[in-house]
Amino acid sequence: MLKDKLALITGGGQGIGREIACLFAQQGANIAIFDVREDAIKEVIAQTVSLGKQGLGMCVDVSKFAEVEKGIQKVVDKFGKISILVNNAGITRDALLLRMKEEDWDKVLNINLKGVFNCTKAVAKIMFKQREGKIINISSIIGMRGNVGQSNYAASKAAIIGFTKSIAREFASRNIQANAIAPGFIQTEMTVKMSEASKEAIIKQIPSGKLGEKKDVANLALFLASKNSNYINGEVIKIDGGMV
Ligand code: NAP
Repeated sequence: MLKDKLALITGGGQGIGREIACLFAQQGANIAIFDVREDAIKEVIAQTVSLGKQGLGMCVDVSKFAEVEKGIQKVVDKFGKISILVNNAGITRDALLLRMKEEDWDKVLNINLKGVFNCTKAVAKIMFKQREGKIINISSIIGMRGNVGQSNYAASKAAIIGFTKSIAREFASRNIQANAIAPGFIQTEMTVKMSEASKEAIIKQIPSGKLGEKKDVANLALFLASKNSNYINGEVIKIDGGMV
């Protein structure tokens, strides 16, 4: 489905990003990864290579534009193109608003939102020249419904939706489609941190009666990265077992 494409996945070292990277490689894409975990980057690139595809992993903090620009240049030097960008890197720093530290607000907004701006801006230049591209931004249902203790995270994920809809309009004439995925609660290293009690409380709110799996999100990302979705633009697709 993605033969001869180059997919850049941020936060691709573990969790949902890694699942997307491996699925895309299985489907014929070469893979570039930006992450902050060196060991994890090495592992996912080794997995890509074992699937018969080329991989390039780099330690890039997506919140820093200069680092992102340098990293993108290296990807273009090696592969000559960027066909798909998956803005997946994201963090949580949860606290009730009255207890939330300014640094936790800034950190979450800088990585989750400014990181999306940085990578999209740097990659768009290349996609404009190519006259084709797919941009997939990982938002969250928390950006749609809010959550106690997650005002910083919810604000970043809601903003990603407005950002996606705007660039979808800006880039459409260049044959670039931008869409967002809003996962519900997915079993990853991020959700592993939750207590059993809060997990049980969440599962009660999910009509499907279970957390989602990484491969559920990866399959949707694959559809949005493929030509099968060429007439879908500026869309936000929830993948949450019917929760919202
Ligand atoms: P994850 O397991 O924590 O993986 C995210 C990866 O991004 C980690 O390797 C992380 O490194 C890396 N990262 C953190 N800061 C970075 C930075 N500044 N630059 C580059 N990479 C960075 O997360 P996940 O659960 O797979 O989630 C992936 C995305 O899906 C996130 O945007 C998240 O908000 C979204 N999402 C997840 C869920 C869920 O239930 N899991 C639900 C809705 C939306 P560190 O581990 O060192 O931080």
